[in-house]
Amino acid sequence: MKRVYMDANATTPLLPEVMEAMRPYWMERFGNASSIHQDGQLAHAAVDHARATMAEFFNCHDAEVVFNSGGTEGDNTAIFGLLHPGDHFITTSIEHSAILEAAKRMAEHGVETTFVAPQPSGLIDPTDILRAVRPETRLISVMLANNETGVVQPVEQIGKIAADTGIFFHIDAVQGAGKVRFDVRRFGCHLLSISAHKMHGPKGIGAMFVRRGTPVESLLVGGSHERRRRAGTENVPGIVGFAKAAELAMHSLEDGVIDRLAQLRDRLEAGVLQIPGTGVNGAQTPGAPGPDFRTWESTNPKEPGIWESTNPILRVANTTNIWFDNLEGEALVIALDLKGVAVSGGSACHSGATEPSHVLMAMGLDKTRARASLRFSLLKTATEADVDYVLHVVPEAVEHLRAISPVAAGTAG
Ligand code: PLP
Repeated sequence: MKRVYMDANATTPLLPEVMEAMRPYWMERFGNASSIHQDGQLAHAAVDHARATMAEFFNCHDAEVVFNSGGTEGDNTAIFGLLHPGDHFITTSIEHSAILEAAKRMAEHGVETTFVAPQPSGLIDPTDILRAVRPETRLISVMLANNETGVVQPVEQIGKIAADTGIFFHIDAVQGAGKVRFDVRRFGCHLLSISAHKMHGPKGIGAMFVRRGTPVESLLVGGSHERRRRAGTENVPGIVGFAKAAELAMHSLEDGVIDRLAQLRDRLEAGVLQIPGTGVNGAQTPGAPGPDFRTWESTNPKEPGIWESTNPILRVANTTNIWFDNLEGEALVIALDLKGVAVSGGSACHSGATEPSHVLMAMGLDKTRARASLRFSLLKTATEADVDYVLHVVPEAVEHLRAISPVAAGTAG
């Protein structure tokens, strides 16, 4: 059976070039990058080269790149490494759990957090961030793109607020990496976290931009790796693969691959919306006033892939999140999986219970609609044939489930 993977926001496969770049560093170039002999120096040179590529990716100095284990570590580092008892922290209610759970932990250590809610469109209004600022606010953390809706947040505006108020600013850019052009100077952040496995690199490796002079404490102590900002023997194959993935991602943003991806996503979305009783999560509500802080539009009208011509809400090129009335989202995920299509639903399993997505709930969806929402997130290698296949199987599956659904019959508890 044909299989179509449309869950790229969960993870992505290695591109062949990434695999090839990593291959020698598992065996013949296995050295420890801290060793002074030739084997070590070969590994060290590879890490240096990768760091230069990542610096180009971020638009920063090589010395501002810190390799770590992934997005969770970067998010945790920003929070645990900067906040002290008595500090105030501002974030949003639609962040990844790597931020939300870290904020919860800091509450036990005397750090109060304000969770700014999004507008119904999924967009964070920077003026809500400004309103939350207090004299003791030390850190603001806002994601670049939401993992569930793909909505791109106005980070530049928030960066300006952080600069004006003298507050540190961290961006969880895990879901923007490879989909949006990065420029940490333009974003105005002190810290920014990304993860290789969301952009066709290996799992278990990530990187952080740490602006020179930012007093973030290391989570891990031990050796003097990464200029004492992250102890632990460097994951050389992972670092090399990550840099190759970043290099390919930079090309994709320039050579039309991401624009083509946005077109494929738009065609998929339009096709699914032909089904009655459906709608997009992460779009402007018809008739509602548009946001007046569209920095991306004003400063970057040609940003590849993220500008929606029909809708003022910016989304990354690969993501659409669609609600379906009168069915159980989880049942649809399973039905589609049986037809060879991998997508994810609007609920997550927490301690054995299925809870509707905190992101969709924060946007004001009711529990039933949040549960009956599906995220389609396309790989950058997606094809027209993939979209055709999904558009072939989704209407059939929806029709079948609606015919038998307790939600449709009004008998669901
Ligand atoms: N932040 C966001 C927005 C994510 O989507 C994810 C992963 O889903 C993470 C952080 C965590 O990244 P990692 O899987 O590399 O720990």
